[in-house]
Order: sequence, then C-alpha cells, then structure tokens
Amino acid sequence: MSQLEDIRRYVGSVREETEDIARRVWDYAELPFEEYKSADLFKKALAEKGFEIEDGLAGIPTAFLAKCSVGTGKPVFGLLAEYDALDTLSQEAGLTVRKPVKEGAPGHGCGHNLLGAACYGTAVAVRDYMKDNGIDGTVIFFGCPAEEGAGSKQFIARAGYFDDVDFCYTWHPSNYNEVGNTGSVAIMGANFTFEGIASHAGGSPHLGRSALDAAELMNIGVQFLREHMIDQARVHYAFTNAGGTAPNVVQDHAALKYEVRAPKVSQMKELFDRVVHIARGAAEMTETKMDYEITMAFSDYIGSPALSEMMSACMEECGAPVWDDADYEMARNMLKSYNEATISNIRETLAERFGADKVDELMEKPLHGGVIPYERVKNPVYKSGSTDVGDVAYASPTVMLNTATSCLGNVGHTWQNTSFCGSRIGMKGMMKACEIMTLACIRTAQDPALIAKARAELLAKNGGHYTCPLPDDVLPPVGKY
Ligand SMILES: [Zn+2]
Repeated sequence: MSQLEDIRRYVGSVREETEDIARRVWDYAELPFEEYKSADLFKKALAEKGFEIEDGLAGIPTAFLAKCSVGTGKPVFGLLAEYDALDTLSQEAGLTVRKPVKEGAPGHGCGHNLLGAACYGTAVAVRDYMKDNGIDGTVIFFGCPAEEGAGSKQFIARAGYFDDVDFCYTWHPSNYNEVGNTGSVAIMGANFTFEGIASHAGGSPHLGRSALDAAELMNIGVQFLREHMIDQARVHYAFTNAGGTAPNVVQDHAALKYEVRAPKVSQMKELFDRVVHIARGAAEMTETKMDYEITMAFSDYIGSPALSEMMSACMEECGAPVWDDADYEMARNMLKSYNEATISNIRETLAERFGADKVDELMEKPLHGGVIPYERVKNPVYKSGSTDVGDVAYASPTVMLNTATSCLGNVGHTWQNTSFCGSRIGMKGMMKACEIMTLACIRTAQDPALIAKARAELLAKNGGHYTCPLPDDVLPPVGKY
C-alpha cells in the first residue's frame, strides 16, 4: 500500500465525525468572539481523543489549543482552525435560491465551519498515523476565533504561542484547488476622535471650535495623501459620529474609523503614521483635540516558500475533489442566482485563469476539477484582502492551501457561500483539504532538513522574531468589536 493510500485510510476513519462537526458548527453560526458552542464542540471532541486542552489563549475566552505528543514530541506543529460566522448570511444548505434558516441571523458565508472541522480531522488522523508508524512529534490544534472580526491569531502570536512551533498548516474554503499564496495584505484599523467647543452656530460662531470641521479636514488631507502613496495601498474611512444632527450647533465631538492597508506590514505602519500626522494637522487647524485608538491590525501573509512547494506536491498527489452530476447540477443552478454583471465578471476571471476557449465548458461544469500548479501560484496577482493567518506566518513557517468547496466564480461572504459550506460540495472539498494536510504534516514531520530550511527562510523574513503590528496595550476587543 502506498503512503497516500494508507493516509486515505486514516482520513476515512475520521470522516464521519469531521463532517458531523462541520454541520454542527454550520448550525451554530456564531459571530466573532461569541463562538462558545463551536469552541466547546471542538474541545470536547479533541479531549475525547486524548488531546490536552489549554483554554482562553491570550485572554480570549473562545481561543484554545489542544495538543498531543507522540514519542520525543519533536517536531512541534500547528493546525490553525477557525469557526466564526458572518452576520445576516443565514441560508439553507444546498439550496440555490435565497432562503434563510432564520431571517437576519448569522451564517457561515466564509466556510469557517469547514475550515475548523478539517483541522480537527487532520489533527486526529495525523496523531493516529504517527502513533501507529513510530513517527515522533507534537500536534497542536489552535482554536482561533474572530477571524472575521478583530482577529485572534495576532494576539495568540504576541503571547508567544507560536515561538516554538516548527511549522503551521491551514487551509481556506475556495473555488479553486491551489496552495494559497494570494498575497493577503497588512491592515491596521483605528478610531479617531476630535473634541471641540460647542456654540450657537448663528449667534456666537466665533466662540465655537468645530470637531466636525476637524474630521472633514482630516478626510481632505487623506484625499491629498492618496496621490503620494504606493499604488497597492488603500485607505478607507467611515464617519462613526458626525457630531449630531443640528446645523445650528457648532459640533464639539466627531469620530471617524480608518483602515489602512498595504502589501507589507512595514509599509502599512509607515502609511498609518502619515494618516496620524494628518489627523494632528486637522486638529491644529481647527484648535480642537485629537485622539486615536488602534483597534485591529494584521500582518501581510506570505506562505513559507519551502513548505509551499512541498504542500503543492502533496496536493497534486492527492488530486482534486471528485464531483458527480448532482454536484455539477447544484453548481450550475447556483451560477443562475448571480446577476449579469457578476456572471460576466466570472467569465472574465475564468478566461484569465484557464483560457477563453475553456469558458463555456467550465460554465457547464462549474466545479474546479484540477490542481493549479505551484509555478502559477508562486507569483500571485495582487489581492487586497487581509487575514490574521499573516501574523502566524511571521512567527512560524506557515502554509495555507485552498480547496474547492463551491462553484467556480462563487463570491465569498454571500448567502450562496453559506449554502455551499453546508452542502455535500463543501464537505467534499473539506475532506480533500483534510487529506492533503494530513499527508503534508506526515511528510514534513519526517523531514528535518525541510523544517530547517523553512526556519532559515522565516528568520530572513522576520528579522529573527515575530513583531506584532499592534501596540502592547491593545487588548483583544472581546465583546466590543
Ligand atoms: Zn474566511
């Protein structure tokens, strides 16, 4: 029996409970930092399998780890599980028309139910395989909540939990099968507040100092900044307090929320400082007081090149999920739920990825049935999303892969994705991710030279250690994000 066939047997033995966990977490659909039922489900299942639980990592009640050692306990490796849902995306599983399970309730529109469950299946299958085959190592399942909120992995990394971890693997539900190196960017979010002096805007305007003017001047300053920043950077803002609704009052209070993104964490921090300078200038111009509070930050994600190459080879060996007629039918029908603009966008993307001559055929059978070669993944096109997996990747060599759990061109954070992530298509993609990660964990644990190479690459990238982009006094915003 080949090693892959053997590993498939181990993955097969955890399949039923992995799918059951995925369905139950999908049902719970809990919001960031509120994932108590989901975390308890994972903790209970892992404890029953002999894993040792450490609860409340970095002061976050729904963050935990579950670890199990075999033999010498070296190397140490982690699986990064998520299980938070998105607001208002409740939707019946497997349906291709909009029908919430509960109107306005949260739903798993990013597939984190599948993400967490595949990490569970991998942790157990890997541990069992190691035990039966005399392979040493420690498997750690990291329960990481609130990826869709303020994130948790940067706090867990800041607390040092990844310092002695030799490598980390994770995955994300997707439309494609590929080793993810999608170039997620760094992000920092902050609240800016301005305090002025209230006055009658008609009777005594000269006595007032407008916080609203300061907020507007800050925004204008940032508009001018946009000409002088790198192309890939983004600065977003929203008014969270415009000072009230009465024009005849000089507003003494105003607040803005800003988010700054850039490809590298160093570029992001530099740009954020420039935004703070502008805010100070706006306060100076209006004789108001400015204060700001950083609320969130993620590092950019760059997967470990050495481990990505190995992971990609494992993926090609395992192959894509196997789809049947019922899967293709659901996928085809789901495409019909998108409007014309989205469909033409999907067709363009497919043409870019697979060639214009393939588009009609793919739209007829819209589920990815191949594996995108690593050569094409190595130089990713710029993407402007962000994830807290980036922070782990600066602390320990990390790889995130993608498997297809939804139709080609499916849009994330939609009811359509909630439907896929509770369906048999989602389960098939999840079990494929479980198989690939299990194979990769075993191969890596048996290859000290590869682990050393990945560590050397990481040290060159992070300057010797992980630095959290958040100031030390920024605590996890549990219950207030
Ligand atoms: Zn996600």
